[in-house]
Amino acid sequence: MALTISSLLEPASSSGAASAPLELTLRSRTGDGKVASVADALVEKKASWEPKRTAVIICDMWDDHWCKSAARRVVELAGPMNAVVKKARAQGMFVIHAPSSVVNFYKDTPQRKRAQAAAFAKAPITLSTSERWGTAWCWPDNAREGGLPIDDSDMGCDCATKCTIREAWTRQISTIEIAAGDAITDNGQETINLLAERGIDNVILMGVHLNMCVLGRPFAIRQMVKTGKNVALIRDMTDTMYDPRMKPMVSHFEGTDLVVAHVERFWCPTITSTALTGKPAFRFKDDTRKR
Ligand SMILES: [Zn+2]
Repeated sequence: MALTISSLLEPASSSGAASAPLELTLRSRTGDGKVASVADALVEKKASWEPKRTAVIICDMWDDHWCKSAARRVVELAGPMNAVVKKARAQGMFVIHAPSSVVNFYKDTPQRKRAQAAAFAKAPITLSTSERWGTAWCWPDNAREGGLPIDDSDMGCDCATKCTIREAWTRQISTIEIAAGDAITDNGQETINLLAERGIDNVILMGVHLNMCVLGRPFAIRQMVKTGKNVALIRDMTDTMYDPRMKPMVSHFEGTDLVVAHVERFWCPTITSTALTGKPAFRFKDDTRKR
């Protein structure tokens, strides 16, 4: 009887416990145009991912942002995102916090040291080394993707008065908890090393901003897809830098949906957080569009 009780008390995340597979509906799109559109045909495919072979990567959920609207939306998103991350962790997934350019804030933590200590694993492609915004950057791939469906050449501040670009972030927003078994890195090679060490080939991305960092960072969508990982974006756990005064002059949230469509069409499928939480997908309070 004692054995039965102790196994009942064992948390799902403890080593050796077989977690139930993560059942996903992977959404992608097909279309003819060079630029993705929400009119492109949806393709849904069921997949079953083993939690122990799956990582979740949290991109650039910083403590502040030079754009006040962007910062406010990160605050709004961070609580629900922490709930998603907790579920992922409890199901046995490996959690990587990737607050680009401020990982030194965590230099003395075991989670940062874990990423630095992971044994070198050679990636199947040469990892991007070109620089942008303080880290290696994976630029748009003209052979693979058309232009982005939104114009973010103004950097995407959607405030009434344009914000001044400044160095605003110092760490990851504290709302998102960092647990003992997690890792912290903003480095592509360290990410590859951490995943290889754990035999992980499934990567779930979340965080901000989809038209910039969630595509371009060295641990993010473009590079993870190119290194052969099975990648999925949580489409309700992201935001964009997009100003509706710029083309195609749709609302901020329609702009985000267009970039999601771009990802689904040219890079990787998307899921919603419901797959992890069983709860309705997250929605920003200012997104007043009809469902
Ligand atoms: Zn702004």
